[in-house]
Amino acid sequence: MEYFLSEQQKTIKSLARRIAEERILPVRAELDEKEEFPWAIIKDLADADMFRAFIPEEYDGLGGGCLELCLVVEELSRVCSAIAVTYAASALGIFTLLEYGTEAQKQKYLPDIASGKRLGAFALTEPTAGSDAGAIKTTAEKVEGGYLLNGTKQFITNGGEAEIYTVIALTAKNRGARGASALIVEKDTPGFTFGKKEKKMGIRSSSTRKLIFRNCLVPEENIIGREGMGFIAAMKLFDRSRPGIGSQAVGVAQGALEAAVDYARQRIQFGHPIISLPVVQDMLADMAINVEAARALVYAAARTVDSGAKNITEVSSMSKVFASDTAMKVTTDAVQICGGAGYMRDYPVEKMMRDAKITQIYEGSNQVLRNAIAIELRKRKARTE
Ligand SMILES: Cc1cc2nc3c(=O)[nH]c(=O)nc-3n(C[C@H](O)[C@H](O)[C@H](O)COP(=O)(O)OP(=O)(O)OC[C@H]3O[C@@H](n4cnc5c(N)ncnc54)[C@H](O)[C@@H]3O)c2cc1C
Repeated sequence: MEYFLSEQQKTIKSLARRIAEERILPVRAELDEKEEFPWAIIKDLADADMFRAFIPEEYDGLGGGCLELCLVVEELSRVCSAIAVTYAASALGIFTLLEYGTEAQKQKYLPDIASGKRLGAFALTEPTAGSDAGAIKTTAEKVEGGYLLNGTKQFITNGGEAEIYTVIALTAKNRGARGASALIVEKDTPGFTFGKKEKKMGIRSSSTRKLIFRNCLVPEENIIGREGMGFIAAMKLFDRSRPGIGSQAVGVAQGALEAAVDYARQRIQFGHPIISLPVVQDMLADMAINVEAARALVYAAARTVDSGAKNITEVSSMSKVFASDTAMKVTTDAVQICGGAGYMRDYPVEKMMRDAKITQIYEGSNQVLRNAIAIELRKRKARTE
């Protein structure tokens, strides 16, 4: 399908594909097996200016936005979702800063993210606050010289590897979500430590850790925006970032589709390649239709985000839900088409199936997002009455 990408967008996409094929493909299985953080690939991505894709030009970026981020994430995820999410989490770590930060904060942090010298991360989830993110307990008490952070964040992508964290914590603990604020916390701040690297089903070379804050003093100038706007900022951030998860899902689904077609072409049973069986053709055709539909929705959602439109919860949630459900179905069907071989680690589709699952869970589980879409529909109905 023609998506009318600009010349720069096409260049970014093809460069990301080249890195994925030349640098990631040969090592993805080993990184997955060893659960090893992909530092060498991060350096390749940085050298190719990939981290500049989603940063404005005035902070050493290429001036792109959500769509450029999605194009890179999709191509990386087509080969390895773990690396795609590591890359995307750095963007997640600075989007709040980009939207609400002061000029001084942007000048201080964004060029390092753009060059790939430092990675970013975003921390909202806590052991008792997952889908119910408003139930966070981590506090940021105002003291002389800054904010004293205490609490634990859970399941944080790039945890321990990133150097710049946007952390949502309560500056007014009796006000619940309305008392939450966003703070930039640097890795080497005293009182800031990490839990063990979590052992996961999929995206195994990516890093997922707890962030532990014990009397961690964060300078006053590190607050992003005003006190009390942290929760709203986080919700707005997810509205902008969900097409990124959608593109992760589209990428892994595309990779699985291609692997399934290749296998079906060369696997001979009953004297013929299995791709000549109508039942396999039907499966492949449905996989292709859904991958393309998901891609179209993700690109449309990303363009809506980049347009500056205000009410984007519905379209961004739809793109994430549809693409991630597609990824789970397509990767599962790819394993089915590859038969016993597909179940083996020697073939890429079992990793893709494991990697796809997370896209239905994070940045708002698909159940929670379906609720959010329904709420938007109800509001729209109410407006027209
Ligand atoms: C690998 C990984 C990386 C992550 N990275 C980050 C990160 O970088 N930063 C960050 O802040 N967080 C991160 N998360 C956290 C992630 O966003 C949460 O796991 C997710 O929001 C779900 O929360 P939970 O795991 O606590 O599940 P729960 O909220 O306990 O949900 C459990 C089940 O109940 C369902 N459920 C709960 N409430 C509702 C409801 N109201 N309606 C319908 N169904 C409901 C859910 O859909 C789910 O099926 C990550 C998680 C993982 C696993």
